[in-house]
Amino acid sequence: MNMRSPQSIRIVFLGKPGSGKGTQAALLSERLMVPHLSSGAILREEIRERTPFGRKVEEYVLRGEIGPEELITTVILRYIERRRYTDGYILDGFPRTMYQARELDVRYPPGRCILLSVHDETVLERLASRLTCRECGEIHHEIDNPPRPDGACDRCGGVLEARADDDREAIRTRLTVFGADVEPVIRYYRRRRRLVEIDGALKPDEIHARIMHFVT
Ligand code: AMP
Repeated sequence: MNMRSPQSIRIVFLGKPGSGKGTQAALLSERLMVPHLSSGAILREEIRERTPFGRKVEEYVLRGEIGPEELITTVILRYIERRRYTDGYILDGFPRTMYQARELDVRYPPGRCILLSVHDETVLERLASRLTCRECGEIHHEIDNPPRPDGACDRCGGVLEARADDDREAIRTRLTVFGADVEPVIRYYRRRRRLVEIDGALKPDEIHARIMHFVT
């Protein structure tokens, strides 16, 4: 991706699984021309390619648990550095623990953190019908963003698949992880006045408009 990296547009998306952070991060990335990095997508790619790192994190990702946080932090910070995203990034899924938030703050502190709030029932409903494109990563839902009539990705025609960790048990674990590990990160950014909270139950266009208001 050849994108311009405007100075200090460093944005972090926070939210439960299925809160819409992946969708909104991708939209904002296109709009602002700032690169989007999803830690979950990076981990899934490494697992698919069976790299040594992918093998180390596979079990955690499948169960919906937090992987080895120091190793994951090193890998994500290396991605930011190698791709020269140091002055501009939109992160989704990272940081997820206080350790990761502090490490990011030491190196490339985000200016704005956007929390998309949703109820657990909404999460369960949305994830039950979520399909992700294997090729371009576009996220589909039966109602909000349905696949093509032939079942292919509406954006690139690629194959759609349900995520292995979108089963009920892994979703429950991911919600527990959210309460235990991500909530402290939210409080940390709130205390530092970097947090913006947006209702994730609103329509995607409305959420995007609100985000634009806060980041530009
Ligand atoms: P996501 O795509 O953000 O829902 O992430 C999918 C899974 O990848 C999570 O349930 C974790 O197992 C793992 N994961 C993603 N980001 C992180 C992170 N920052 N630290 C630890 N594990 C992560």
